[in-house]
Amino acid sequence: MESAIKEKYMSTVEIENLVVEFKTDDDIVKAVNGVNLKVERGKTLGLVGETGAGKTTTALSILRLIPNPPGIIKEGKITLDGHNLFDYTEDEMDKIRGNKVSMIFQDPMTSLNPVITVGEQIAEGIQIHQNLNKSEAMKKAEEMLELVGIQKERATEYPHQFSGGMKQRVVIAIALSCNPQLLIADEPTTALDVTIQAQVLELMKNLREKYNTSMIMITHDLGIVAEVCDEVSIMYAGKIVEHGNLEDIFENTKHPYTEGLFNSLPNIEDRKSMLKPIKGLMPDPTNLPKGCAFHPRCIYAKEICSKREPVVTQLSDTHYVCCLAYENTEVKINGGGLIE
Ligand code: SF4
Repeated sequence: MESAIKEKYMSTVEIENLVVEFKTDDDIVKAVNGVNLKVERGKTLGLVGETGAGKTTTALSILRLIPNPPGIIKEGKITLDGHNLFDYTEDEMDKIRGNKVSMIFQDPMTSLNPVITVGEQIAEGIQIHQNLNKSEAMKKAEEMLELVGIQKERATEYPHQFSGGMKQRVVIAIALSCNPQLLIADEPTTALDVTIQAQVLELMKNLREKYNTSMIMITHDLGIVAEVCDEVSIMYAGKIVEHGNLEDIFENTKHPYTEGLFNSLPNIEDRKSMLKPIKGLMPDPTNLPKGCAFHPRCIYAKEICSKREPVVTQLSDTHYVCCLAYENTEVKINGGGLIE
């Protein structure tokens, strides 16, 4: 019983103090600067932030796919079901990729080979990882196609014979074909139109429930987060600046950057209202601002914000924030959670 409970709540993946850098001719690009996160079995974590926040680099680190050189994982530890991924050899990692951990990319065409039938592409991973012969693997591939809502007869067709949404379904079938413990989806619906996007998200939710797969959903879309995630990590300039469950992040927003992301969303009830985008751009990762990296864009910034780097403040069992307003400083934030 005890072991069943432990199994249920065990984290699939845990990242501790991950630091990733890329070396260019003149500079060092600080892509990830001390990320901590964990995803429990069967749960979905949304990793949210603008382009350049370090979301994809964090995900690629889990698969140990950071190209070295120019990239290097400088510090940190990533465990998958309690095993440190950095202890594995390249051959062992090859067995983990696509088997225990799968990744779905934004554009299905980058993941599919145009000259191989979709059935063969799904069967390939199954054959390698599950030790089946070709016809057994093809039978399983047809089952996977049906699972994602595509008739098995279409297994003999090529990617160009499928629509964008169908291609992404094929990619999902490939990713799930070996029943991975962790599925990383990097903006999986961005290239799709809104109706197809909803169908693909629904499909991913159903499959996650069926297989109890843990998922990391990388997105800049808070609507998708509300739809499929259990927990959310908001990333800015290579760090997680706020983390919580859906209620913490959506109903009890604490970090000025998270607040800015919500203010940038269109208001459906008042269609004439102006969008309020966050001023400025994500900082140059070769030259991050001193103190809090968000200070040049933060409407609440005080002088101290350009000098002192905030640390993580735990607000509740589930909610964490990284901002000086929660560290007993003179910084004050409108909208709650203030240190008086
Ligand atoms: Fe804004 Fe200062 Fe908080 Fe950074 S530490 S988010 S600059 S208030």
